[in-house]
Amino acid sequence: MGSDVGRLTREAIEEIRTAANIVDVVGVHVSLRKRGKTYVGLCPFHAEKTPSFTVSDDRQAFYCFGCGVGGSVFDFLMRVRNLTFAEAAKELADRYGIHLPEAPETPVQKRARELADLLCEVNEAAAAYFHRVLLEDPAAGPARDYLRRRDMGPEIIREFRLGYAPARWDGCRRQLLGKRISLQVAVQAGLLAQKTEGEVYDRFRNRLMFPIRDLAGRVVGFGGRALDETLPKYLNSPESPVFHKGRILYGLPVAREACRKEGEVLVVEGYFDLLALHGRGIRHVVAPLGTALTVQHVRLLARLAPRAVVVFDGDEAGMRAALRSLELFLREKLPARLLKLPDGMDPDDFVGQRGKDAFLQLLAEARPLFEVFLEESLVDYDGSIAGKVRSVRKVAPFLKLVDSRVEQESYLQLLTRRLGVSEEVLRQELGLVGAPETEWGRRHAEKRDDTRVPAMEEVVARILIHYPSGIPLLAEAGILDEFEGQEWRELGRLLEKHYRTGGILDLGGLLVELTSEDLRRRVSSWSLEENPWSEENASLRLREYIEGIKGRKGRRLDDLRRLQHEIRIAEEKRDEARLGELLARKAALVARRVRGKANLTKGEME
Ligand SMILES: [Zn+2]
Repeated sequence: MGSDVGRLTREAIEEIRTAANIVDVVGVHVSLRKRGKTYVGLCPFHAEKTPSFTVSDDRQAFYCFGCGVGGSVFDFLMRVRNLTFAEAAKELADRYGIHLPEAPETPVQKRARELADLLCEVNEAAAAYFHRVLLEDPAAGPARDYLRRRDMGPEIIREFRLGYAPARWDGCRRQLLGKRISLQVAVQAGLLAQKTEGEVYDRFRNRLMFPIRDLAGRVVGFGGRALDETLPKYLNSPESPVFHKGRILYGLPVAREACRKEGEVLVVEGYFDLLALHGRGIRHVVAPLGTALTVQHVRLLARLAPRAVVVFDGDEAGMRAALRSLELFLREKLPARLLKLPDGMDPDDFVGQRGKDAFLQLLAEARPLFEVFLEESLVDYDGSIAGKVRSVRKVAPFLKLVDSRVEQESYLQLLTRRLGVSEEVLRQELGLVGAPETEWGRRHAEKRDDTRVPAMEEVVARILIHYPSGIPLLAEAGILDEFEGQEWRELGRLLEKHYRTGGILDLGGLLVELTSEDLRRRVSSWSLEENPWSEENASLRLREYIEGIKGRKGRRLDDLRRLQHEIRIAEEKRDEARLGELLARKAALVARRVRGKANLTKGEME
């Protein structure tokens, strides 16, 4: 669960979970058919013609046997609507009429929220004013002509609420005064600027206005394009408590829905690029506000879609900008491709001259950003030894960040071919042999280790999902505490917690509490799979496992007893060296046991 669950109490989550029915919630997005005890439909997360997306009423879980997505009703909403856990919970609460008690705000939080609300209100009022001026004011004639020349139709102007800030010093100011809006707030929002003597005046003059909205649709700032020779050509609202250029993208609320459908988000450079694509029905697009992509931008993109395509102008600068973002995409593990436009063209020119289909063709052909980077890095490779070293040094830090082994392998092979060095040498040069050296590598290695599948744990958990009546038996034998790995121990603990007498398992409750997304997916799939064990077979396997664990425990006790005995002998003989070694072994053996317990207690407190 995300960190934003803080303001939702456990009780509230529990209430929502009990009220919500996954079949109803999924049914809004997927047309479901009853098949036996479950419902099936076409998966909203991958393209398919025969339904492999399965939902169960009594399990309160979903799983797609096609693409492996699964989990609770919260997981479904989060994924299908790009929501955080807290947002999904709020939405369900609204739907089922549950009142969510909010944690009380601190005075500082309250002031910050009230200011943010005020700033957005002022911006909203200004957006309405600029829009009206653009549509109605005779002085906006040249602005309307300009938009017509750029092929921006009335629908686009309305949907994005484009506006015009007239060429005067007191247009916006008088408008806001008339609405009894505090000019001080308007200054803070950046709509008005203040002279040193305290006099305030319109910041945006004779500019085409682009209201910039956050994911929730609030106007947080503006971009203004000069309609004369004034510089800068594009003027943005200054940074404010609600407006941070490095954290916001143009087109968010509209793109949100479209990205979900397309499973992809396009990043273009400018307002007009985005609008031109929109005008042709390509709506899964966002644009940074004249800045290079930041890590916050990339995180925002990852919330919109599982894949990104960077669309940049076919010139040298555009290419360099796109390649600079490569590291961010790699670090955030968001797969990205690069759509390269012909030299000297931006997306606006391109769709204007060649049309939508030509653009979609380029989109289909877009290559992974890393592949393009690799080739660019080799462009001035001259075949010399020094050139080899240079090239390898250039790509090494990035190649190490490539998340997928398979991809890393294919890039290595490409380098091998181009540079004419053996893969062995390359691996050594890149530091890809032996233990990972970087901090990132270490964390990654640990993570991989933690999520490895302990075969017996998996078998036991799967059997218990199908035969919950075995749970008390295993719990009493202490087997569920003995699961290896923290995530699996949490699952063991939750199996015990959500077991109800009479052989019933409250799987919905278990799924909501289970922290590991990977395990939520697995548990959902087991709960919806065809039961692979006969009752006899299942109980046999469980008994074997109980015996196995008892043996493991027994062996540890035997080891301890034997050590204890040898320690006594060493003490009698006053063999200090031997005694030290034995005590260390004993400490290690005890620690192993304690560590297991400590993890479990931590899990219980979470
Ligand atoms: Zn699927």
